[in-house]
Amino acid sequence: MASTVNKLLLVCLAGTSLCEPLVQRAALPVADTLFVNGIIHTLDTGSTTVVDGALAITNGTITCVGTEVACKPAVGSSTKVVDLNGKAVIPGLIDTHIHPIDAGRAMLGCTLRFQQLTQDALRNIIQACLDRQPGETRMLTVTEFDREGFTAINGPGNKAMLDSLNTTRPIAIIATNQHNVFVNSKTLQLLNITRDTPDPPGGRIGRDSNGELTGFLEENASGPARALGGDRGISQIDASIAALAQLRQKGITTILDALQGRHDAWTNLTAQGDLTVRVFTCFGIFGSLDFPSIVAQAQDVKKTLDSGALVANAPGQIWRHVKFFTDGVLPQASESGFLLEPYLVDSGNGTWVPGKNFGIPNSNQSQIMEIITRTLDAGLNIHLHASGDAAVRSVLNAAEAMNRTFRPSEIGIAHAELVAVEDRQRFAKLGIPVIASYQWAQKATYWAGLNEKALGPERMSRVEAHGILNDEGALLSYGSDWPVDPLDPFLALSIGVNRQGDPQNRNSHASFGPQFVGRLDQQPALSREVALRGMTTAAAKYLDSSDSIGSLEVGKFADLVVIDRDYFDEAAVPNEELAKNKVLLTMVGGRAVFADNSTNFLPAEWVAESDRLNSHPVVKSISPGNILSRAVTGRACGSHSGHVH
Ligand SMILES: [Zn+2]
Ligand SMILES: [Zn+2]
Repeated sequence: MASTVNKLLLVCLAGTSLCEPLVQRAALPVADTLFVNGIIHTLDTGSTTVVDGALAITNGTITCVGTEVACKPAVGSSTKVVDLNGKAVIPGLIDTHIHPIDAGRAMLGCTLRFQQLTQDALRNIIQACLDRQPGETRMLTVTEFDREGFTAINGPGNKAMLDSLNTTRPIAIIATNQHNVFVNSKTLQLLNITRDTPDPPGGRIGRDSNGELTGFLEENASGPARALGGDRGISQIDASIAALAQLRQKGITTILDALQGRHDAWTNLTAQGDLTVRVFTCFGIFGSLDFPSIVAQAQDVKKTLDSGALVANAPGQIWRHVKFFTDGVLPQASESGFLLEPYLVDSGNGTWVPGKNFGIPNSNQSQIMEIITRTLDAGLNIHLHASGDAAVRSVLNAAEAMNRTFRPSEIGIAHAELVAVEDRQRFAKLGIPVIASYQWAQKATYWAGLNEKALGPERMSRVEAHGILNDEGALLSYGSDWPVDPLDPFLALSIGVNRQGDPQNRNSHASFGPQFVGRLDQQPALSREVALRGMTTAAAKYLDSSDSIGSLEVGKFADLVVIDRDYFDEAAVPNEELAKNKVLLTMVGGRAVFADNSTNFLPAEWVAESDRLNSHPVVKSISPGNILSRAVTGRACGSHSGHVH
């Protein structure tokens, strides 16, 4: 670890090659923007950092990285020269598993904001949402439900507590992990679900010990309730506009939208010039096993919506991925993540012993092989959700049976929260990246209490093995899974590096109480460089776009972020302060899409443009409390949760 860090702290000394421009001076085109006096972390293959560095941009493309002397010839009469005051510059962040439209809808709709709530508090928030829409009869969809946190203080919950609300509307509460919903009797009635309704394939209808419906619908059983809620009266474009505002502010310049049907939101935003992030989109249909139809639809969407190629100064949309779920999620309330050995159950005398439930596989191995084959044969890539060790193994086995190695972009396994020891080396061998959510490697409500008991200590010691998988040669590409968790890339980096949360960060479970402070386990963590590469170069590799994004090099797009505190400066920013960083400037293809209006060194017109984007009525309408940061409830033993989709 130390050696990679040292390499990154290389300094440009006068007379060394680093001080030369990376193209011939004579060939330097006139720059639109020249940054000077910055610490430029290029994240090129040599991990070059230029201290007191400069970076020139022409038409959205980087045309010089080096010293000020080296890049100065790019200055012309129209060049904006921006003195960075010694601030650090890193490549724009790439998030390869995120749900922006769900996140936008959550911000604009009725949200429980990730809080751990008592029954009464939950009912009060929902009643207030109902009361804000008098006369409305359609379903109320509620999001950001911390089910694990709720269960920890209230028990499992029952539809009766929703039935007593003052409304005749159907209600569906979507858990943060997005894999289950909690509904009232009106919803069950509209869906024709009775105590005699059998569980659908790949789904579970919650019942109590007397067989009565509890109101919880797991996995494939949750689809109809979500569908009933429709778009919640929030259009895709409004949801996208709300999400983009957050992405800009967090330094995210490229995303892989992890599950979408066909929609035109990105097209419309592009036409308005307001698409401020490069969007890769996964076409997926939750719960369907009709592979020929999924692939045909994905091809059709690609034909009509895909922008064709990334373009330097104009973010577009790339529809190249199919999304497929192979299992559910691990928390005890769901137990739908597919495991090699069953979840443990309470034996009644204080010990936990293997039960009968292995989780919910969404498909068998030959089906996984079929969807992979059909997708790749159609010239598309496949992004597979696999949380449990059996689900992960199914994908690895299916890939292995195809008898070839894969390009890193072809097959991605999202989550891989639990991986069997003997499977760890297979990712690198097969060429399959792991899309990892670093923030899950902290002590959290979803790993505590019944959740850790149901997995048992041996499996608990192996969850979120990001460091080990990296050491075994797997390509790690970061995915936030927002809105499963609040969007906070520097917290994620901090947890990747520390394997523990930050008690001072409200988005971290470590802020919820002393039981969540400290290291999750003794597994190796990530180096700062590996963690950041997962959001930059490795992510670009996964998206098959290393030629244009991921690092700050001549010829690549000017997607970059200026940060308040130098991420790589271990003296100035000790490990425990990594999450405190702040984005000052986000640039996509040379356009400043976010400029912190409290800084004094950024051009006024950039700040004005950033403020203009954020003055959109939709962005303005987001109540600050609905920005996805967990609110502090003030309970001494409070614990909150988001989990795992
Ligand atoms: Zn997922
Ligand atoms: Zn997800």
